[in-house]
Amino acid sequence: MVFSVDFLSDGQGHRRGSQKILLVEDSRMFSAVLSHRFQTELGLSVVHCASLKQLNEVLATGEAGFTMAVVDLNLPDSPHGEALDVAIVHQIPSIVFTASFDVAMRNRIMERSIVDYVLKDNEFALDNLVAAVRRGISNRSTRVLVVDDVPSARRVLVDLLEAQQFKVVEAGSGDEALAALEEYSDIEMVLTDYHMPDMNGQELTRRIRHHYSSDRMRIIGISSSNDRLLSATFLKAGASDFIYRPFVAEELQCRIALNVETLMQLKQLRAAAASDYLTGLYNRRYFYDQGPRIVNECLRHQRPSAVAILDIDRFKHLNDTYGHEIGDQVLKAVAGRLQSLFEGSGNLLSRLGGEEFAILFTGMDSRAATALCDEVRVNLSTLKVNADDEELSVTVSIGVAEIAGYEAFENYLNAADQFLYMAKHNGRNQVYSDIKMAGQAAE
Ligand code: GH3
Ligand code: MG
Ligand code: MG
Repeated sequence: MVFSVDFLSDGQGHRRGSQKILLVEDSRMFSAVLSHRFQTELGLSVVHCASLKQLNEVLATGEAGFTMAVVDLNLPDSPHGEALDVAIVHQIPSIVFTASFDVAMRNRIMERSIVDYVLKDNEFALDNLVAAVRRGISNRSTRVLVVDDVPSARRVLVDLLEAQQFKVVEAGSGDEALAALEEYSDIEMVLTDYHMPDMNGQELTRRIRHHYSSDRMRIIGISSSNDRLLSATFLKAGASDFIYRPFVAEELQCRIALNVETLMQLKQLRAAAASDYLTGLYNRRYFYDQGPRIVNECLRHQRPSAVAILDIDRFKHLNDTYGHEIGDQVLKAVAGRLQSLFEGSGNLLSRLGGEEFAILFTGMDSRAATALCDEVRVNLSTLKVNADDEELSVTVSIGVAEIAGYEAFENYLNAADQFLYMAKHNGRNQVYSDIKMAGQAAE
């Protein structure tokens, strides 16, 4: 696909398959529920320790590679957070889960650059903890740019972000920040100071907003100024949020987390709007949204491209014979096979609707696309779908059109549709294109 393969996964841009979490907790109830939820909701494997002794034993075996630890501060053999110290010595990013909490305790744990702490004092404690772990993991794939001309002030922010697992890039001026945005295309959040020698934070915010809208890039202003108007002017310049120095670490963390969550939700909304409900492929809207842009890009760089429409043969008959549900299963199976055939190929696959799929080929002329489509046709004819003790198979017809000059996107698809019509008319289970027509004329 032309776009990130993870785009349709979980909106977090992250697959968590084999990640491991260390759960240090003596309460059986909490341990059981958390282990289950980490496994089922976050796809993590869990190593559980009920005491400091067990924790030391696990770590002594040399077992490593923990993505994160959840650590209870009060265990039978270590009532003062000794387990947290051990986790930190082993450089395991840790989330504290604790019932006992006061300011002295808070200060003690905040000194140790933990990912987060979650209190056991309310009915949402488990939900909050699962959310904190999810956030910590998703932060690992979120890049943040920190802009401040004073290295020590920048350091404080970088440390705080890194403790929360973010990938961090630093800039010492507005110009450096703009250069960093060019260099790292995956930056999704900017934390910027106000007073800087080359341009102030508002000016930087305005410039960033010329290229990056707030649904993809969050900007948080930070300043030690005592001008109370500054927060408003920052927000009016396009910042998503603002905080005055000196700040309480938790407040900044929460504001960052809220902004990241907004980004994630928008990503999920975009993914939902772009995906086909039945098959999970890109839908018609996405294909028509992105298609023209991709074609123009190809034409501009004189890269060949072509478009194909693929339609299942006699699908109505299959529906009428086996019922709509089996019809849906067949559609999903065909979509799944197409997805695996085109995954990572740089070609854009979508379900246009019904039993019709479209593929936009880039870097491929219609001769190559026709040959590839013929392989796809043969491959799909080997697909078996189980229905009521029967094995069903289908054939498909495909029309392929070359994309040669600037035209309305619709026209390319109409041309492919004409070839599809010929394929159907001439008996189905075949691929038609200008190449094939030229070949037939020559015979
Ligand atoms: P041809 O070989 O000429 O393509 O004939 P066909 O029967 O495949 O094509 P036609 O367009 O006549 O019928 C398509 C059928 O697909 C009709 C419609 O009920 C069915 N269909 C459309 N969307 C869905 C869906 O989401 N699920 C199921 N099960 N059927 C669908
Ligand atoms: Mg059909
Ligand atoms: Mg049809």
